[in-house]
Amino acid sequence: MNTTTTVTPLGGDVYEIDTRMAGYSGITAGYLIMSDRPCLVEPGTSGSAPVVQAALRELGVGPDDLATVVVTHIHLDHAGGVGDIARMYPQAEVVVHEKGARHLADPSKLMRSARMVYGDALDTLFGELKPTDAARIRAVEDTGTVDLGGGRRLDSHYSPGHAKHHVGLMDSHTGDLYVGDAAGMYIPETADVKPATPPPDFDLDTTLESIGKFRSLGPQRLLFAHYGPVTDVDDTLERSAEELRVWVDAVRDARDQGLDLDHAVAMVVDRTKDRYAITADGVDPELAAKYEVLTSAESNVAGIMHALDKNA
Ligand SMILES: [Zn+2]
Repeated sequence: MNTTTTVTPLGGDVYEIDTRMAGYSGITAGYLIMSDRPCLVEPGTSGSAPVVQAALRELGVGPDDLATVVVTHIHLDHAGGVGDIARMYPQAEVVVHEKGARHLADPSKLMRSARMVYGDALDTLFGELKPTDAARIRAVEDTGTVDLGGGRRLDSHYSPGHAKHHVGLMDSHTGDLYVGDAAGMYIPETADVKPATPPPDFDLDTTLESIGKFRSLGPQRLLFAHYGPVTDVDDTLERSAEELRVWVDAVRDARDQGLDLDHAVAMVVDRTKDRYAITADGVDPELAAKYEVLTSAESNVAGIMHALDKNA
């Protein structure tokens, strides 16, 4: 096993864990809140589960110590490892939005549609989401609370737009807001903010409302699933909203011109690439490719097209 640590302390008894989706480092972050009732946010993929287990062991969290596992939403890069982690940590309660709960108990439908999207790449990217005993799953609605012990709480806030089963989570002790993918993707190497607008749920107005909700919570720090902590909260959320508008405008133009998906993607990439340091000339192309695995321009354009078709 790789002996390089995947754990980074972030202060406030919060530890970032690089969950190493498909073996990549630095694209999927899980977080352990090391409170009286330890809580894991974003377990990552099924393939991530051994990585997470090793990180928790390093942090002194044994099989019976983990109190809660929370997912911001049930996409496989966030929740694919829930079934594995639930088996490794038999005391842990699994917390998820009500629109995602049944898919964690019975993942067959979710896995079938993921297989249609990803084909054979599904196995290397994510692996198989295994079922979790329904009795261990707690569904939250518009808001919900995870007891972290010692008076500390993690409050969930429904934040659809990227996905209809998405929640953000605010730590009462640190003011950390776990944003999942609702505010897009933050690329720490270049400080870029890029949208994450996959089909079939993406909706611009809903996403902007969720970003507004996040702003109104007044977080001290944003913890991105992709990737890591950001303290420049207001500017980052503002940038996130702006990027969404730019991409939706570009896709709308492509759609008005009657372009097919491939040509629309080419046009949108060309029109937006100068906005991001990561796609500028001279930047490590491997770095850009790594993030493209996670959120491809094609998936973003397809998601926005789908939303425009729906609203037409
Ligand atoms: Zn994601």
